[in-house]
Amino acid sequence: MKYLINHKRFKKKKLSEDEFTKYVYTKNRIVEFPQYEKNYYNFFNLYAKKNYKLIKIDCLCNQGDDLILSEVDRHCVNFITVICKNCGLIRANNYFRDKDVKDFYKNFYRTNAYDENYQKKSAAEMFESQKKSGKFKFDLLNKFCPRQIDNMKIVDVGGGAGGALDNFNDSNEKYLLDYFDPYLDFAETKRIKSIKGGINEIEFKPDIIILSHVIEHWNNFENEIQKLVKIQKKNETLNYIEFPGIDSLKKGRRGGDFLGDLHIPHVYYFSSYVFENLMNRYGFKKIYLDSQIKSIFVYTGKLEKLVNYFERCKVDLLEAEKTRKIQILKNIIKLFIPNFVLKFLRKIRNKKINFLS
Ligand SMILES: [Zn+2]
Repeated sequence: MKYLINHKRFKKKKLSEDEFTKYVYTKNRIVEFPQYEKNYYNFFNLYAKKNYKLIKIDCLCNQGDDLILSEVDRHCVNFITVICKNCGLIRANNYFRDKDVKDFYKNFYRTNAYDENYQKKSAAEMFESQKKSGKFKFDLLNKFCPRQIDNMKIVDVGGGAGGALDNFNDSNEKYLLDYFDPYLDFAETKRIKSIKGGINEIEFKPDIIILSHVIEHWNNFENEIQKLVKIQKKNETLNYIEFPGIDSLKKGRRGGDFLGDLHIPHVYYFSSYVFENLMNRYGFKKIYLDSQIKSIFVYTGKLEKLVNYFERCKVDLLEAEKTRKIQILKNIIKLFIPNFVLKFLRKIRNKKINFLS
């Protein structure tokens, strides 16, 4: 298989002990990725290698003709990511079996064994920060909802501690689905019904479904999307879907570096137009969508045809490479500017932004 971007940071790595320090995060690093994280690295190279099995996964367009994007992820773990030349969808070339994925989310995803920083947040802190960031979700849904959001059934799938739901008033029935008991228990104290599990556990048709940073984790896309279809009120249920879009890299997200997006819990990486076409093929229609991929879809049942966005996605990835190179230059220049000047420049920039808005 050929590479789309032939650059050494995307090639398979074999690191010796002392090389790891080179990739540890520091504030003044000129090149931000890859970033070595010990627990993550060990989890996939020791536990997962011993207990999990990778199986080949086909593109969702079923026409397999791929180029390699990377053989390594953002934390130095060897893992192959490809792009399909028939549709432009980016995905993991091989992925773990269902039972491995279940084991990972149930027993490791929110633990120190996988992520050394995770438990620094209590359930209450997590809830509050999710409430704050979830305000955007409420505002957007409120804007596009044809009636007042009262007396509705609202479901947050993979919603962590459920903080986003707290933005909706208590006339609504609120449901949280996730796997981490301390978060589920906390949500119960906030008038939220907690259910352990994923989308399969929903036994009714909600008015609003929130899937924030969830769909890119689906290792069984076909099954999950069919289940999503089953619980839709046709032309009515609002589906809020969010994840980082490939087309926003060129605008400076992750310093323009696609490698910064790559990590093993993600099976898919979407650009907004590839995602929209994918949803269209399953009968969903866009109500709102931006390049960060904050979106609202409704189910109409009308199935659209496949559109090949490979070339467009390729252009976006190559544009992002330019942004990355400019960012590296900026990082080098920053090293030679004294701190007080940097602070001053930031102040002016912020004032300018305030003035403009
Ligand atoms: Zn494809």
